[in-house]
Amino acid sequence: MLDNLTQRLAKVVKTMRGEARLTEANTTEMLREIRLALLEADVALPVVRDFISRVREKAMGEDVIGSLTPGQALVGVVQQELADIMGADLGKEATRLNFATQPPAVILMAGLQGVGKTTTVGKLARYLTGETRKKVLTVSTDVYRPAAIKQLETVSQQAGVDFYASESSAKPVEIAKAALDHARRHYHDVLIIDTAGRLGIDEEMMQEIAALHEAVTPIETLFVVDAMLGQDAVNVARTFNEALPLTGIVLTKLDGDARGGAALSVRHITGKPIKFAGVSEKLDGLEVFDPARMANRILGMGDILALVEEARKTVDIQAAQDLEKKLRSGGRFDLNDFKVQLTQMQSMGGLSGFLGKMPAQFQQAAQHANMDQANRHVRRMEGIINSMTPAERRRPDIIKAARKRRIAAGAGVQVQEVNRMLSQYEQMQSMMKKMKSGGMMKMMRSMKG
Ligand code: GDP
Repeated sequence: MLDNLTQRLAKVVKTMRGEARLTEANTTEMLREIRLALLEADVALPVVRDFISRVREKAMGEDVIGSLTPGQALVGVVQQELADIMGADLGKEATRLNFATQPPAVILMAGLQGVGKTTTVGKLARYLTGETRKKVLTVSTDVYRPAAIKQLETVSQQAGVDFYASESSAKPVEIAKAALDHARRHYHDVLIIDTAGRLGIDEEMMQEIAALHEAVTPIETLFVVDAMLGQDAVNVARTFNEALPLTGIVLTKLDGDARGGAALSVRHITGKPIKFAGVSEKLDGLEVFDPARMANRILGMGDILALVEEARKTVDIQAAQDLEKKLRSGGRFDLNDFKVQLTQMQSMGGLSGFLGKMPAQFQQAAQHANMDQANRHVRRMEGIINSMTPAERRRPDIIKAARKRRIAAGAGVQVQEVNRMLSQYEQMQSMMKKMKSGGMMKMMRSMKG
């Protein structure tokens, strides 16, 4: 996801952090690098201009210049501005779905064909039944493609929600009204309406969806956009936004090799919050969009919070909370913690899902690695830690040559492997430290609060 952009920006961030003094020259150079990285990622020009000028203004400001660590302060500015163009300035409430209406709350889905609308309906339905225990009904008004109606039926079954079967001989507005009536009579909390998309902007499609909007007065009108579309996405978003009172955006296929343009432009262009992000083809591949977190990922600062959350869902809740607490209170990341991390990586279905959330430098190192091999490697590292005494796990610095030989023998590996494991541990430890000094923990706390 957004790999190139992340790699380029992570490099700039690293340089910036190291700068003890900000001069006109090095600031300009950094901004130039950021600008190029954004343009290359296909971010819309007005968005890039606006972003750079805001960062430049703040870079000259007292908060940065007067800071003891100006490079670091500038990274903070970039981080904040990046989060803001993706909607952090709208506040957390902005990403929540609105249900402040007499049920059923109608959610109208708009967007071009193939962007992932139908899949998103399924994901949303599942999310709403699971997370908020809503009773959901879905309906498709895509009378032009019977296969599309069938697809929604299948997806709805998979999501375990009710599906209103529509006749392809009926008119879209009639179908929507009938489904709304059905939802009322069967006490559904939410009705999600999937609509017909075209391959490009089309006057007829726009009129149809505007008519649908008028007929069912949705509380949410979500524009679904494919993150891989880059600049094109911006034009499509603008047109939809002009034709319909959109309330939010769903950014799909963020797991693909999207360059990032759409993710960074679409909020700025439409003024509407990105509410959800699609991160896989599966029904559970939907995340509530978090601009601050996304900004961190893009800057190669990883997403420890997401890791902790994922760990919470899949594995040892207590262990994840303990680590979080320990790190927050300034505790040391020792080998016991490292081992917990390794175990969690494995129970999260191997390393590949985990990697996307790690800081860029880790991702790069791991990119070429064969995943199977990597998983085996993780198990061996666990074996090595298992051969250590509790004292060694707590204070890895006492592990000198003799201890290494004993540990290696115990785990049935070469001493080099013990060394390698220790250096990987150190890498992760210094990453945790860096994130702390970089204000990551503080930010995480503010995000949670
Ligand atoms: P629609 O024409 O807009 O209804 O699009 P579909 O829901 O049929 O999706 C088109 C294709 O995109 C399908 O192959 C989906 O599996 C895929 N897709 C949808 N959302 C995502 C996503 O978030 N990630 C990935 N990788 N694929 C997705």
